[in-house]
Amino acid sequence: GREENSFIEKTHELNSIKRVIGVVSGKGGVGKSLVTSSLAVMMRKKGYNIGILDADITGPSIPKVLGINDKVKGNEEGMYPQKSNNGIRVMSVNLLLDKDESPIIWRGPVIAGVVKQFWTDVIWGDIDYLFLDMPPGTGDVPLTVFQSIPLDGIIIVTSPQDLVSMIVKKAYNMAKAMNIPILGIVENMSYLKCPDCGKNIKIFGESKIDEIAEELGITVLGKIPIDPLVAELCDKGEAEKINNNYLSNAVSTIEKKLGV
Ligand code: ADP
Repeated sequence: GREENSFIEKTHELNSIKRVIGVVSGKGGVGKSLVTSSLAVMMRKKGYNIGILDADITGPSIPKVLGINDKVKGNEEGMYPQKSNNGIRVMSVNLLLDKDESPIIWRGPVIAGVVKQFWTDVIWGDIDYLFLDMPPGTGDVPLTVFQSIPLDGIIIVTSPQDLVSMIVKKAYNMAKAMNIPILGIVENMSYLKCPDCGKNIKIFGESKIDEIAEELGITVLGKIPIDPLVAELCDKGEAEKINNNYLSNAVSTIEKKLGV
């Protein structure tokens, strides 16, 4: 189990965090943050205490899509996450730094250190599900995060243009090596629904996600279409108003496999 991994850091003594779910992707821009925030919003609506640890330091978009602008506050005990309108607790470098202190130029070990601190020094309080928006890729930074924070499961996000099979296999191997269960894969930007005729247009061709999932023995948790309303709400910081069923299967899988 996860407790046996000697690399794992202890979270803050004031925290009681029941489940930690990592959301990973092979590269940036495939919709990992969208999936993370949508899952958080849906599960918060079901009444769970939810946190998002934004570990995607080079593209920290979680506070923006949830409309959080106030910086975090801290005292000698630690740092307190900010809350969205519906009470999702969020910690992100975006809530620590001024605009001109871009973390994009930070080196890997510094990034990994900051992510670790979000686990050890942040007073999350009582959390049912903590979602980790992981740094994209399968390089050193995500690897260090995997070794520092006790994940109960991961969700892989891909898009049809991704070199899907390679990325899914890499993420799969990383999770396997660390003994972390893979909850499943989400395919984002799978298709576009024509607003006139209602047909699903497969912009990037036929999806291979089902084949790959079957080959690896993992579950497809959902296929999210390109949805202009989703993009607009995220842009306006109103992700909590997203109200669709694209990820309802993912939510029930989390509840089934990692119930609290
Ligand atoms: P990542 O976290 O993988 O870098 P994001 O979740 O930030 O990617 O998504 C990148 C951009 O694409 C964002 O502006 C987001 O609003 C938009 N986007 C992602 N998925 C969709 C979708 N299914 N429909 C419309 N826009 C999307």
